[in-house]
Amino acid sequence: MLALDAPVVPPSARSRAAQGLTAAAALGIFALQRCEDCGAVQYPPRDACVECLSARLRWRAMERGGELLSETLIRHGQELYFRRRAPYRAGLVRLDVGPSTIVALHRACEGAPSRLRLRLALDKAGQALLIGLPEKDVPDMADDPIIRETTCAPRARKVLITDVKTRVGRAMAEALVAAGAEIVWAGFAAPWKPSPHLEALRALGPVTPVPLDVTDESSVRELAGGIGGKVDILINTAEHHRPGAIASRNGIETARAEMEVNFFGLLRLAQAFSAALKARAADGQASSTAWVNLLSARALSNDPAHGTFSASMAAAFSLAQALRADLQASGIRVLNVFPGPIEDEWNALVPPPKLSPEALARTVVDALERGLEDVYPGEVAKDLIARFLENPKALERELAG
Ligand SMILES: [Zn+2]
Repeated sequence: MLALDAPVVPPSARSRAAQGLTAAAALGIFALQRCEDCGAVQYPPRDACVECLSARLRWRAMERGGELLSETLIRHGQELYFRRRAPYRAGLVRLDVGPSTIVALHRACEGAPSRLRLRLALDKAGQALLIGLPEKDVPDMADDPIIRETTCAPRARKVLITDVKTRVGRAMAEALVAAGAEIVWAGFAAPWKPSPHLEALRALGPVTPVPLDVTDESSVRELAGGIGGKVDILINTAEHHRPGAIASRNGIETARAEMEVNFFGLLRLAQAFSAALKARAADGQASSTAWVNLLSARALSNDPAHGTFSASMAAAFSLAQALRADLQASGIRVLNVFPGPIEDEWNALVPPPKLSPEALARTVVDALERGLEDVYPGEVAKDLIARFLENPKALERELAG
């Protein structure tokens, strides 16, 4: 028997072809399959063209416009998830690019017939969902239940940032305060070390510094015991990075320090905090909602000039995938962020363009507000992911050169 407030996510079984929709939604792209032979746009996703049976279907970004033909108010559902959310509006929409489909309607959409915009979003189970939005933004757009279900906006949420003693951590805290976070717990290690960033943050109303050393299991457990049950969004900014080729150093101390923070730090956080987040995932409006990992585009393919750092981030990326699978059943979004080189002392020798901590922080807030799962902030990261998806072997050789 389910407790009344146990987290319930929508049914999540999807075909392999439909995972293309999920992949686009994870990146915030409105993409559908188009036939390479006859040009027909497909929906729902399929293995062969509905017009000519060609198997050459490619995912492409599409125009978002459509026409609402009719709508209904759904009051019942086979699935517990939908029953709990009834009544809600559903509409039959003819997309400008061709197919017609059923979508969930934002409450500000006009009645049929009317124009609307479509958005591909991830639902609580991490699966793609088509949403109909009013053609123009309305005030309090994000307060609609369907938007709240599919996004993780920091506004009025309680957020833990694991390390604010860096420029990235500070920028993250400032961006969250600007986005309306109710509380920002600002983690800091090594309290004896002065930090201009921590001092500057103390002046901001919603920021509360909390001691946290992700390399120390008892420190992580102690903080989780104190505030773990209240955190809505956890943002792991803790990072250890030393540039250098692997043969340029003796011993493994630097590599070990990178793994201690970047990999084992994430593991300690996951072990200490994820149970508490999962327990609160169904707390209505104030539920726990997201876990953010600041990884690196170097996790995709090793940058030999940052050899051990890249390796530690690849390990963290893999662990983050395990964490995502674990939290998905509770409806908590894991946002993995893969920035290119950041403007910091450890990338001093890297040529521009580099990403400012402030731009990185704004991208993370934007990704939470849009409910994304994977983001590649900055020109370099976007270039790396495009090259990686096209040909991982070529990227490996190019980075080696
Ligand atoms: Zn075709």
